[in-house]
Amino acid sequence: VIRSDGETYRFYSNEMNDEAQARLALEADLRRALERRELINHYQPQYDMTGALVGMEALVRWQHPARGLISPGAFIPVAEESGLILPLGDRVLRQALADLSAWHQAGLPLVPVAVNISAAQFAQTDFAENVRSALEQHGLPPSALELELTESMLMREGEEAIRVLGQLSELGVRITIDDFGTGYSSLGYLKRFPVHTLKIDQSFVRHVHTDSNDTIIVRAIINLGHSLGMSVVAEGVETDEQFTYLRGEGADVVQGFLFSRPLPREEMECALRAAVDR
Ligand code: C2E
Ligand code: CA
Ligand code: CA
Ligand code: CA
Repeated sequence: VIRSDGETYRFYSNEMNDEAQARLALEADLRRALERRELINHYQPQYDMTGALVGMEALVRWQHPARGLISPGAFIPVAEESGLILPLGDRVLRQALADLSAWHQAGLPLVPVAVNISAAQFAQTDFAENVRSALEQHGLPPSALELELTESMLMREGEEAIRVLGQLSELGVRITIDDFGTGYSSLGYLKRFPVHTLKIDQSFVRHVHTDSNDTIIVRAIINLGHSLGMSVVAEGVETDEQFTYLRGEGADVVQGFLFSRPLPREEMECALRAAVDR
């Protein structure tokens, strides 16, 4: 693309600069947002097949003073490239535990929270110790926390991943494989790792009752998880038809817009109260 023709060179060069500059501006903005506590947790409730509230997933949002609520897809990639994902991820984890602890102290049931963990966090040598101290700081049992990891993270980290997962599992924290079915096709790691839950990716759930390939894949994932003694969660459930199919196939837990969108903290508290009155 770089030609001896000076004009063309400048054209491409400027365009790359614009893109790089926009990224740098976003990174600086995100760094400021962390300091100003503009990153907040929303929580999406998870239900079992009887309709009982059995869990929730923490999903980060950026409460931007000028641009409003920004979804994680717009800033997690930059956080990961810049290393800001480490303080950001730690903030999300500690905020989730702080909220859980406050709800529990207010007399609400202790419903476990699932937190998304990025590859860089998981690769930290003191990750398990950091999780342990965060739980201790908030006076919560390890069973109150689930960590959502991806297949590719476990594959990439190899022996080190096994060591950290062993530490977490010994601690009593539950491990979920997020977006299951979209990563590596090697399944051998499943029996080597102490994994408690498989979360079926929403791309399979979307057409589960209309596309025979997705029907077969979802059935296979549920059977695989159950054969290995794991619990199976379906995410992205939007319709009654999807839910009916998943229930028929024996999925354990569902999460999706059909039941609830991710909620701000105050509304999640209302969902917990409703669960008590149920
Ligand atoms: P994910 O972990 O797969 O989270 C599920 C996403 O699906 C969430 O998007 C959620 O709002 C959305 N969702 C839930 N129910 C439905 C549904 O019924 N239909 C559809 N179409 N979507 C549904 P969100 O909140 O925008 O998060 C996007 C991704 O950003 C997450 O995907 C996760 O990979 C990442 N993310 C979010 N919070 C964190 C975090 O604290 N740390 C890290 N490392 N990543 C995060
Ligand atoms: Ca997730
Ligand atoms: Ca997911
Ligand atoms: Ca996803």
